[in-house]
Amino acid sequence: MAMRSTYLCQECSNRFDATRGDLMKAKEFRCVSCDSVKYIPHAELETFDYKCADCGDKMDVIKIPMCPVCKKRNNKAEKLLMMID
Ligand SMILES: [Zn+2]
Ligand SMILES: [Zn+2]
Repeated sequence: MAMRSTYLCQECSNRFDATRGDLMKAKEFRCVSCDSVKYIPHAELETFDYKCADCGDKMDVIKIPMCPVCKKRNNKAEKLLMMID
């Protein structure tokens, strides 16, 4: 279950909406550098190269979205907007 929420950044007080969590049939990966999100179907996990299509850096399982303003991951979900299967 993925959740779309409004986050409050503890560093710069920016509020932003982000989605995090795995889908029923796909696992969520985030880029360590640019926070680009990709959902990889379970059947394709073995061949996934963990490379970000946008910047070429590493994709990883990261539970906290990045603040788009200060690029830190020190933020808290304030309000749940939507649940996504
Ligand atoms: Zn990236
Ligand atoms: Zn911030």
